[in-house]
Amino acid sequence: MTRHGDRWGLRASALFDGCALHRGRPLVVVEGDRIADVDLSGADPSSDLPVADLGDATVLPGLVDSHAHLTFDPHGDVPSQMREESDDFLRALARRHARQALDAGITTVRDLGDRGYVCTEVRDSKDEELPEILVAGPPITRTGGHCWFLGGETDGVDGLVAAVRERARRGVDVVKIMATGGMLTPQWDSHESQYSREELAAVVRTAHAEGLPVTAHAHGLQGLADAAGAGVDGVEHCTFLTETGAVPDWATIEALCDAGTFIGVEEARLPGDDTLLPARIRRMLEARGEYLTQMSRAGARVVGCSDAGINPRKPHDVLPYGVISFAHFGFSTAEALASVTETAAHACGVGDRKGRVTAGYDADLLVVAGDLSRGLEGLLNVTSVVRAGREVRSGTGERLPIGTN
Ligand SMILES: [Zn+2]
Repeated sequence: MTRHGDRWGLRASALFDGCALHRGRPLVVVEGDRIADVDLSGADPSSDLPVADLGDATVLPGLVDSHAHLTFDPHGDVPSQMREESDDFLRALARRHARQALDAGITTVRDLGDRGYVCTEVRDSKDEELPEILVAGPPITRTGGHCWFLGGETDGVDGLVAAVRERARRGVDVVKIMATGGMLTPQWDSHESQYSREELAAVVRTAHAEGLPVTAHAHGLQGLADAAGAGVDGVEHCTFLTETGAVPDWATIEALCDAGTFIGVEEARLPGDDTLLPARIRRMLEARGEYLTQMSRAGARVVGCSDAGINPRKPHDVLPYGVISFAHFGFSTAEALASVTETAAHACGVGDRKGRVTAGYDADLLVVAGDLSRGLEGLLNVTSVVRAGREVRSGTGERLPIGTN
């Protein structure tokens, strides 16, 4: 594995720093596992600094996928897999999927639902050949509810309070609760609420007392309103489903904007035949595409994520496709990129050290060929991935061409 000296530089024609695109041969200086300096002046660095000059390329923060399922095999049947496979098997699968994500430039992954807390051990291995991993453990769900097979079945306020405390004891990074039904579990329809606003509020109160954020899986219109009313820190999906269709509820959107709630939008999927999707889901996704840009312009903190693992069009390296979709919906290049870097890092509670290219932040970097302002498809053309200051993937098969000026 490539190992660079203690202090080295990376220069390319463009840099996205987490907020804005810069041109004019910006230089990023890495020292150990941190970014030491970012120089936008285009000036030559001191002659003793080894610098990899990548020419027509864009340097950006390593991507953050705030919603993935590392233990899910996208080509498998998740419910039966979760009932049958051993913890060791799922852990090995999680490691393989995490590595697949890293090779695409995803340097931080938040797992929003495993079985038996198996991802916690993968996180705790602190393996720098993997992305940084954050975990939720088994999502909390009502008895027989969405993803019950992950083992998080809990009913009533007392049960919910106990479930949150158990997750705190287990050292999770976030509490995930299924506020509504979902696609993977036909027994409970996606638009139906699984908990009352009071129950969700008890979860939020208990989690916050433990110092943990809460994110709520919420498709249904009422479930979203209740999650917002309960004060969750994030919502996942945000599709505003009713029995008959999907209708954005602007009162809830306004409440989510005012509270600064993160809105995870799992738009990333491989290109494919959308007409094969069930008609209801297709209509739901089309409707969301229409109101997403409007929501973002209204101040919503939209986070691009993947829900990787749930079906064959969602492998664990799929996140860049979501960024490309956001641009097609009308997001600017910087808005689309921020949704998987700076905003996503804040959604995951690591915004003080990830998601930006700036001095003092972790040296988790992605380099892609070309200038991304010419098209976000460039994200698929990975030149190099740097994790904690070390190059862990080279797209060209050759290590970063570091030379001294
Ligand atoms: Zn999910």
